[in-house]
Amino acid sequence: MVGKAVLSTIILITGIIFIVSQVEADQQPAGIVQASIAQPSSVIVDIPGPKTAAPAAGERSERFIVDDTSRWTADELVVVNRVLTHTFQALNEVGLDGRLLLDDYRFRRVSGEHIDEALGLIGLVNHDTHIISLADAAFVRLGGFYIYHEIGHAVDHQMDRELSKQYHAQIIAMAGTDNITAVGATVDGYWLRAHAHEVREEATADAFALWVGSEQADMRRPIFAGTPLNADYDGIVRALEISMVAINGS
Ligand SMILES: [Zn+2]
Repeated sequence: MVGKAVLSTIILITGIIFIVSQVEADQQPAGIVQASIAQPSSVIVDIPGPKTAAPAAGERSERFIVDDTSRWTADELVVVNRVLTHTFQALNEVGLDGRLLLDDYRFRRVSGEHIDEALGLIGLVNHDTHIISLADAAFVRLGGFYIYHEIGHAVDHQMDRELSKQYHAQIIAMAGTDNITAVGATVDGYWLRAHAHEVREEATADAFALWVGSEQADMRRPIFAGTPLNADYDGIVRALEISMVAINGS
């Protein structure tokens, strides 16, 4: 029941943020896309790297855009740039073009330690608007884990949830057992947070964050209050990578 209440609250909050995002987009639809330095309210983060295909006009941007009315710091933009660069490197290594996959996603800065204090919500991705909202904690906690996590949700969404399907098939195969308990959705040993135990997309987004962060950025293994002692960090990374390769090969 508690889980349901929290879920309802998340849906409610997502709905509110969706409305807010819509309003912001309506106020400056062209400004977000065509932002330049002359517009201090929007900043473009350029991601270096080879392109794998020539884009058709208007089909795909070469830039990822962060927007907010005021609160980005130079250090935060560096973090976003670094996280995206690492993500694209990781995807590139399994034959995927991250810039194509996440073409029109944007980052929005929400000031405050959390987006929602009571829920401890640090990051949030809106799959309708393709806006990833980030609170203060996303930049200062666990080496950017929460930013990678939200990008993981976006990647999974762009693949029509194929990543979470593959990941869960893979961990069942690796564990050699389908030891999913009544409350859990994720095989024991392959989740880090209670939330990820109960929701397989959350376990997948955590696995994605761990995969990119540990392979590309020497990120320390995150330990959360509920992380079980038998959490298999290496197994999670391996399962995620195998899933990615399987998706690209299929
Ligand atoms: Zn999540």
